[in-house]
This record gives sequence, structure tokens and C-alpha cells, in this order.
Amino acid sequence: MRQTLNFTQVAEKEKRHLIHTYDRLPVLMVSGEGCTLIDDQGKKYLDFLGGLAVNSLGHAHPEIMEVLRDGSETLLHVSNLLFHPYQADVAERLCRLSGLDRVFFCNSGTEAVEGALKLARAYARKQEEGDGKSTSKLEVLALEDSFHGRTVGALSATWPEKYRAPFEPLVPGVRFVSARDVKKLESGFRDTVGAFLIEIIQGEGGVVPLDESYLKRAEELCRAQGALLICDEIQCGLGRTGQPFAYQKFGLKPDIVLAAKPLAAGLPMGAILAREEVAAAFGPGSHGSTFGGGPLQCRLASKFLEILERPGFLDHVREMGGYFRARLEELADLPAVQKVRGDGLMMALVLEVPGKQIVKALLDEGILINCTQEKILRFLPPLTIEREHVDRLAVALRKVLAEITKIPVAKGVPV
Ligand code: PLP
Repeated sequence: MRQTLNFTQVAEKEKRHLIHTYDRLPVLMVSGEGCTLIDDQGKKYLDFLGGLAVNSLGHAHPEIMEVLRDGSETLLHVSNLLFHPYQADVAERLCRLSGLDRVFFCNSGTEAVEGALKLARAYARKQEEGDGKSTSKLEVLALEDSFHGRTVGALSATWPEKYRAPFEPLVPGVRFVSARDVKKLESGFRDTVGAFLIEIIQGEGGVVPLDESYLKRAEELCRAQGALLICDEIQCGLGRTGQPFAYQKFGLKPDIVLAAKPLAAGLPMGAILAREEVAAAFGPGSHGSTFGGGPLQCRLASKFLEILERPGFLDHVREMGGYFRARLEELADLPAVQKVRGDGLMMALVLEVPGKQIVKALLDEGILINCTQEKILRFLPPLTIEREHVDRLAVALRKVLAEITKIPVAKGVPV
């Protein structure tokens, strides 16, 4: 069914029938191409929101569309009780890119987290059977300022009180520890900890990269205590920081890695990657998914990963990331700007003023961005952006941020 209703009609209908869980921006998007989204009025928007890290190849990428067209005419779904030709290739690519050994497919980030929590418990129990000691290693250590999803298990490991409190009681056995203070990490790391769950860059938490020294110590503690290191790469992984996975920058060797968002180039898909010994804690019947790893998603994921592996693709992400950072840092002279942080094409501008008004003002300028944690502008553009896109954003940001604080826009500011 093609869209026929206008913005007002859609908004009214949604208001009547949807459960109100989103505060949407007042635009009706009907198509997209490359780094651009187009609304029902034909207005174009430069997309620095990127579907919150889903649209890594932008919109209507010709190779993705071709796979989609062909895939839609052959096989949409086949039960996981049968083989189809496409899961194996995605799994092989993910193992090659990550250095892990085995993959389980699901449909979203939060589901990948759920599965990882189950796998960690299954592994702890299997160890117990192995050496005859009773296990108390069922505890999960998670980080302050973390975000891992909205289902009950993932939510139990998600930090903000406002997300968790209304739904308590949650899953017991999760404890939070500082994501910055190594001493607090050390004292919190008891031998009851079976798994340590981290994001290398805390996305929803405000695009906060963890320190290398913290990460290295965390890995040491996991090894010393026999706890699994789980990297949630759902937002920061799959090329976003210019590496296949963000942990690779630090030479970490996680036991479990979680991927989702851009994996199937716009269709829902998640994956749990695990080391051989850890993966062996699951057997037939211990975990499953009706839709996970369906043929169409897998064909799209294979194409996405093939593009990611092409020579030059990740170089481009690193180059654009460096350029983007430099252009954002030029805004540091504005009183509304506190600092820039992030890595690759997962960047943030930390403000001194509320960010919501900036998001709205940029929308008027035809640019889509996101605000998290009240004062943090978050940018998750397609990994295919070019300098001209970054330039457009930088000029618009300077104008809007200067207007907010009534500072005249300096002439001769580099474009
Ligand atoms: N983990 C991280 C780091 C995320 O950023 C998100 C979503 O933003 C999730 C998990 C949950 O993913 P999903 O929304 O696909 O369930």
C-alpha cells in the first residue's frame, strides 16, 4: 500500500490508535536516497540520524535494493527447522570480521542481549558441572550509563532509573559499576561475576567512549575471575568507528559480541557471536527464534558485510570521521558548545544548552540529527557520507547555535 495520507491525517490517526511511546519529529518521510530523506512535501533532509545507526549504507543503496528485489521474489521465510542457503555465509563473514567462532541470529539488539545473558548463565552452569564446584557465577556486571534495550532482561542491565523503575521487579543478579573509575571496577569485580557487559562507546549514555586503560583492566579482571567479557556492539559496531568492531581498536578479545542495527541494511536482524567454548554451552533447544536469520535478512546482511569488507570502505569511515571531528571542533568557540567526543562516525557535540531546540531548528534547515541526555547532540550518519555533507551540517550548526545564544555568525568561517 503506497502512502496516500498527508502528515496531519497520519498524525491524527496515530494519535488515536498507537500506544504513545515515541515523541516523533513533525515530518512524514516517504522516500530516501543516499544520505537524503524526502518528506511528503518533497522537502529533502540530510540524514545525520541514520535511523539511529541502522542506515549505514544510506537509503536505497542500489546493491541492497537489487538483493531486496531478487530476494523478495524467491524466499521470504523458512523455519529454522530447515536449512536455507544464506545463514552460513553471514555467519562466516561475521566470524572472519570479529575473530569469534560461532553465531546465533535473532531480530534486534535487545534480543541479542537477552540471548547473551542466557548464554552467560548456561556457560557458568556448564563450568560448574565440569569441575564439580557449585557455581555462584550467575551475576552480571553492567555499567553505569549503559543502554542495552527495552526487553526485561536487557532492561535489567540498562542503567537509567527512568527506563527501569516503572517495570520493576526486573531480572535479579545484575549489578552496576562505574564506567570510568578503575578502582571502583576492581572493588566491584567479585568472583560471583559470570559476565561483564559493556559498550565500548556508550551510545544512549551520551556517546561516551570508555578509556583504553579501563578497558584493558576490565579484560584482565574478566580473565582473572573467569568472567565472560561481553561487548555490546549494537550501536558502535559493524564499521561505525572505522573498524569492523569497536573493541578491535584496543586489541580486546571478548568472549561474546553482540551486533544488530545496520546488519541487514534496514531490515531487523541481530546476532550473538561467541567463542567456541562459550557457544558450546547452548545446544539444540536451549535457544531459538522464529524469524531469526531469515533468508531475506541474511541475503541483505551478506551484501552489507561484503560492502563493509571492500578495500577502502573502512578507510573512508576513518577519513570522514577525522574530518567530521575537525569540523565539529571548529564550533568550540561558540558559548553553547562544551566539547566534542566520539569516534569514527559516531560523534557527539556536548552543549551547554538544551539540545531539543537545536534538533528542531536543524530540521527546518533540512538536516536530521538526534539529541540524547538532554544536552548531547548525537550524529550517526550513513558511513557513506562525503565532505560536502559534513560541511553542510557544520555551517547549519554554527548558524543555529549562534542564533540560540544570539552570537553573530562570524564572516569568513570556513565552509
Ligand atoms: N544495545 C545498544 C548499545 C543499543 O544502542 C541499542 C539500541 O539503541 C540496543 C542494545 C537495543 O537494540 P534494539 O533497539 O534493536 O532492540
